[in-house]
Amino acid sequence: MPTVTSINPYTQKEIESFTTHTKKEVKVFLDKAEKRFASWKTTSFTERKELLNNAAKELKENKETYAKKITEEIGKPISQSIAEIEKCAWVCEYYAANAASHLEDEIIETDAETSYVSYEPLGVLLAVMPWNYPFWQVFRFAAPALMAGNVAVLKHASNVFGSALNIQKVFEKAGFPKNCFTTLLIKSDIVASIIENPIIKAVTITGSGPAGSAVASKAGENIKKTVLELGGNNALIALKDCDIDATLDTVVQARFQNTGQSCIAGKRLLVHKDIENEFTQKLVKKVRELKSGNPSNAETYIGTMARTDLAVELEEILQKSIKMGANVLLGGNRQNAYFEPTIVNNVTTKMSLFKEETFGPVLPILPFKDIEEAIELSNNSNFGLGVSIFTKDIKSIQPYISQFEEGAVFINTLVKSDPRLPFGGVKQSGYGRELSSHGIQEFVNRKTVYIT
Ligand code: NAP
Repeated sequence: MPTVTSINPYTQKEIESFTTHTKKEVKVFLDKAEKRFASWKTTSFTERKELLNNAAKELKENKETYAKKITEEIGKPISQSIAEIEKCAWVCEYYAANAASHLEDEIIETDAETSYVSYEPLGVLLAVMPWNYPFWQVFRFAAPALMAGNVAVLKHASNVFGSALNIQKVFEKAGFPKNCFTTLLIKSDIVASIIENPIIKAVTITGSGPAGSAVASKAGENIKKTVLELGGNNALIALKDCDIDATLDTVVQARFQNTGQSCIAGKRLLVHKDIENEFTQKLVKKVRELKSGNPSNAETYIGTMARTDLAVELEEILQKSIKMGANVLLGGNRQNAYFEPTIVNNVTTKMSLFKEETFGPVLPILPFKDIEEAIELSNNSNFGLGVSIFTKDIKSIQPYISQFEEGAVFINTLVKSDPRLPFGGVKQSGYGRELSSHGIQEFVNRKTVYIT
């Protein structure tokens, strides 16, 4: 039987082997999910709300257990894994409280006696998810999907199958009927055949560009809706008048939390030339103080990257840029999956460090002379997930917000997801939105009703 073995990137030891589901088994799961949808869609918001609140409770009560598995599977520092579980509880509570109002019939005045839009579930949804926030990425999709009356099947990244099974456990322990949420233990090679199955009504994927493109192409061929949450190359822009010390704290968090492996991480630091020296010196000092080590220790801030091959890829990007003249101010070394927190200057727009998504703890710095040049550098990217701008003069920056080709502009803080706000990108970062009323309305039939 084919198996997938997960490796702890910190100890480099095997954690567990999982027997993958066969195509035949997957078909049985899909049939069961379809049957479940027939009854789940008739449940009331009140019933769904109770179950989703139970899920939040389960997450909060057992956060250490679920977090421990995340840390084991991807080397994420334990305090950050716990914070991820807490955020999942928040998104469950948010949709438990708000789904009914987000999906209320929308009355529209026309020539009819009555006309309105009703929001109805689509059916069985497929979610293809990445390893970097193995719980959060799934919950921010699943909480609204289930509240809307859909059911879900999950294909999680191959290195987090333990967490994938734990997520199914959370829903089962919360009292959701069997097959409302199903984890499929499969590799990516059978995703296309699942998308082709008529039982699947729509697909959401969070991951890299190539994976997004493969999934969207197959879904398009089969006329199925997709939401794509893909990569990012966010800029952090420190304007001349920013509060340097406060900005530094945020920049460090934006780049180095989750050991740099976040789609919305600040991946290019743009600093006004007049403050570049002071900013860079203070930054190097701060980053040098970050505590690397065993991810299971509460005080560790930098764990390992999730897999050794990912750290090797990052090293290649860095080395290519060094050959082109980039200068390493701090770090730059790798040992297995551990990559030192790294700061680099003398970076140009032609280097991979600037153009490609660096999915790890490496921060390139580029100076700029004015806001126009900062906007040009920020927009000089195939991605468009978000940007952070730091300034004391909020009034002056506001007229420029529309010039950023991004899904989100955050002023004086890092780009972050919040259940109350829509989340998603433009350009190669994808399309569609998750979270808030926008997210729950992605996977529903907006039915027009006209009565005369
Ligand atoms: P990835 O390699 O694209 O994998 C994501 C998921 O897609 C995994 O479940 C993977 O399965 C699957 N997959 C890969 N190739 C596929 C294909 N051809 N057909 C169908 N499924 C396929 O990405 P990752 O390394 O896990 O995650 C890092 C990427 O995700 C980064 O680019 C990051 O920016 C992006 N991301 C975006 C967001 C956002 O909200 N915009 C959030 C987090 C991460 P296997 O593991 O079995 O290969």
